Amino acid sequence: MTANMLPRRQFLRGKFLAALQSEKEKKQGFNGIRPPWAAAETLFTADCTRCGDCVRACETQVLIVGAGGFPEIDFSRAECNFCGRCAAVCRQPVFRPSDEPAWTHKIEILPSCLALRGVECRSCEDNCESRAIRFKREIGGIAKPQVNLQHCNGCGACLSVCPVSAVKIIEDFSTLDSPTAPKG
Ligand code: SF4
Ligand code: SF4
Ligand code: SF4
Repeated sequence: MTANMLPRRQFLRGKFLAALQSEKEKKQGFNGIRPPWAAAETLFTADCTRCGDCVRACETQVLIVGAGGFPEIDFSRAECNFCGRCAAVCRQPVFRPSDEPAWTHKIEILPSCLALRGVECRSCEDNCESRAIRFKREIGGIAKPQVNLQHCNGCGACLSVCPVSAVKIIEDFSTLDSPTAPKG
């Protein structure tokens, strides 16, 4: 390789890495978690006017003005109680019918969980009204959490109460039949 080829190769590699990064961001939900019953991302961002009505109507204030001015969920401040005010107040066709599943995500508990590391803690279980987190007793040991994904509704009430931030959101598309059709 000649010396004058190096900058071009670095330039192309930079472009390649940038493309990979944006793809990763897309997969992880670059624009954050949308309100419950939100239409698919492309439909949502196409028609949402960023008026902020849903954010102001949110009962728990879990909904915030996120990237680009679009509404997104911030589980570090609150949980969603599925009151439906965000969808009810919205004047745009960006929400699906309320008899459909609210969203596709659930939670997982990382190995950094205190109980998994032998320290007594049940904060997540105490805050889960759906009883989706149960602690399994172990003879002579600390009870460890187990998540029942069928019972988890993704409300996020277990996230902010974890003292070591070991509860994370994961995607689970298995329970959603029609994630793209907005209400008409
Ligand atoms: S009320 Fe509807 S249009 Fe307004 S910001 Fe919220 S989702 Fe977008
Ligand atoms: S359903 Fe209620 S609590 Fe949940 S984001 Fe919408 S307004 Fe907020
Ligand atoms: S997200 Fe809600 S339903 Fe799911 S485990 Fe956490 S508190 Fe329970």
